[in-house]
Amino acid sequence: MRAARLTAWRQPLRIEDLPDPACPPDGVVLEVLACGICRSDWHAWTGADPDVSLPHVPGHEFCGVVLEAGPEVTRWRAGDRVIAPFILACGRCPDCQAGNQTICATQAVPGFTCDGAFAERIAVVRADANLTALPEGMDPALAAALGCRVTTAWHALTGRAGLRPGEWLGIWGAGGIGLAALMLGRAMGARVAVADVVAEKLEMARALGAEAVIDARGDDPAGAMRAATGGGAHVALEALGFAVTAENALKSLRKLGRMVQVGMPAGDHARIELPWDALYSGQLAVYGTRGMPAHRYPALLEFIAATGLDLSPIIARRVALSDVSAELALFDAAAPPGVAVITDFTR
Ligand SMILES: [Zn+2]
Ligand SMILES: [Zn+2]
Repeated sequence: MRAARLTAWRQPLRIEDLPDPACPPDGVVLEVLACGICRSDWHAWTGADPDVSLPHVPGHEFCGVVLEAGPEVTRWRAGDRVIAPFILACGRCPDCQAGNQTICATQAVPGFTCDGAFAERIAVVRADANLTALPEGMDPALAAALGCRVTTAWHALTGRAGLRPGEWLGIWGAGGIGLAALMLGRAMGARVAVADVVAEKLEMARALGAEAVIDARGDDPAGAMRAATGGGAHVALEALGFAVTAENALKSLRKLGRMVQVGMPAGDHARIELPWDALYSGQLAVYGTRGMPAHRYPALLEFIAATGLDLSPIIARRVALSDVSAELALFDAAAPPGVAVITDFTR
């Protein structure tokens, strides 16, 4: 199979012919239909993700067609079209049994702890516990984006911060996660303000329903967010994993506000200094979040169907496997608006 393999940090991925993956007894082999390119892949590419060792095939936002199912798999068979979450939990430990698959101690994470979907085929372990059927008529490129950006934003807002209709949601960073949170927040009946440093991203946020946009290059973006939201956001969502955006997100909250850290603080940003006096005096709450438990897919898919939410504007570029290195390098600077998805694995 053709795969894009990372063999040296920050170097272009090599397009190689690799052996087809073996089918795990509890898993499936998928023909990959689409795979998103995410800032988390960029972390892996730069060597900042401690889970990744070389050589490595990245790619964690995928959907595909089952080519083969292992003997222990009961829910899936060849020909099924499925979406996978990027956290493949065991489904059996006490955390999984309690519904908290994102903290499963033995989780496998394709594209990080094992080879991912920047390839024509991928082996996916623990298929029964994690896969969801791709809804009839859903674009595979959009389904791939669901697997990370949309699911992560959904769980951050509904499973962690508890966003309610009428509340102000302040989003820091208008990349894939930020745009997904904007669209979901609007569909949930929240009012949304978005901060970023790239004018085109703010224009896109405005077009997608943001009531206020804040140019974070200004002197006091947190103050601008508080002013735009009538005294501060009820929920602030940090979508980059940067020190400056984390501090701004915290300072942009109204009293009793909730901040949810969605961006991955890696490398130089692993340790972040925050104004803890603001947390104390404002009686704020801070949540960490990562991914979405697989059992919450049906609720998300039902929400999308019931609200008629069109998430397709999130996809800005459909690219080929050989374009992946150029796309990863874009995250070094201010990446262009929207999400890139690999849909052509033949070149
Ligand atoms: Zn991702
Ligand atoms: Zn588990």
